[in-house]
Amino acid sequence: MRKAIFINLISFVLLLILVSCSSAPVIPLYEYPPDWKNLSEREKTIREYSKYLSGRKIFIDAGHGGEDRKNKSASGEIIEADVNLRVAMNLKKYLMEAGSIVYMSREEDKTVPLADRFEHANKNGAEIFISIHHNAPAKNEDDYSDYTSIYYHAKDTNYEYEPCNHDIARYIERDLSYVMHNPGGLGSFDGTYSDYNIYPGEGFSVLRKTNIPAVLIECAFHTSRFEGFRLNDEQFNRIQAWGIFRGLAKYFRAGRPEIVFIPDSLQIQNGALRFSFTLKDQSGINSKSIQLFFNKKEIEFSYDKFSSIVSTVVDSVSDGAYPVRVIALNKNGNHSFPYHKKIIVSDSTKIEFVD
Ligand SMILES: [Zn+2]
Repeated sequence: MRKAIFINLISFVLLLILVSCSSAPVIPLYEYPPDWKNLSEREKTIREYSKYLSGRKIFIDAGHGGEDRKNKSASGEIIEADVNLRVAMNLKKYLMEAGSIVYMSREEDKTVPLADRFEHANKNGAEIFISIHHNAPAKNEDDYSDYTSIYYHAKDTNYEYEPCNHDIARYIERDLSYVMHNPGGLGSFDGTYSDYNIYPGEGFSVLRKTNIPAVLIECAFHTSRFEGFRLNDEQFNRIQAWGIFRGLAKYFRAGRPEIVFIPDSLQIQNGALRFSFTLKDQSGINSKSIQLFFNKKEIEFSYDKFSSIVSTVVDSVSDGAYPVRVIALNKNGNHSFPYHKKIIVSDSTKIEFVD
């Protein structure tokens, strides 16, 4: 009996020594961002960001839902559709508090066909489309992979690539991965990816068929063992939404060039077609960035820095409808929104500029 007490005492002392010597840090699953940690900080940030977000029309697409609930963690506890919806609803709340007008593809667990998502976004006059998802690895047994990635449509060498999508992706990626303390993955240096990496030449249909600037966010891997501890925590979902919210606010704060056609500039004489645009931006235009396309080919132009006017002459233009496209970058590094118009020439002398 005495011996047993003695051994127990020794064990207790050893345990005490072990606990006091142990320097293993306790790693939190997540932390509260300083500008989110309490209501007054949150309200202060939202007030500041409302300068850039107020009146913006933003479409949020919470991926999957309803009959489409098959994407799950190995334990079955984390269901992608539900996590997407929680992040989307919190993002809606923050954006509305900042004065944005928000459209949603769904606000509950219901089936929404893919086509309804982009058609809804195309019809309602939204400026930006944001699709919220969580990722899964190529191999089912991989529960290690976990990173934050954002997809834009096409690659920078393709005509259908719109660089403004890439800008939006970069801004959201930076702030979302920051608040989650997640990296951006090994397939990209900044966590942004072309959807052609997944479906070469086609990309994701929600990005391809949305007419407005669009990105698809893969916040994290719902299959990751680590994410299994936090993706069902609603407080963490609020922080995820906060990261996207901050990225969007900073994107709009950096502005973008506006392209304005000058109607009086449109002329045709002996097959030589002339037209001009004004580029407007508060931070100024990066004059080396301007690209002008006529009939899907990049063409020469002159740029007057003082008036910010781009002018061009295209020779030997016969009757027909010609797509015109302009891309410009402002001095904060943001590109113009997609600018696609048409010039129609008929009877050699009649010209029309159409949206
Ligand atoms: Zn998904």
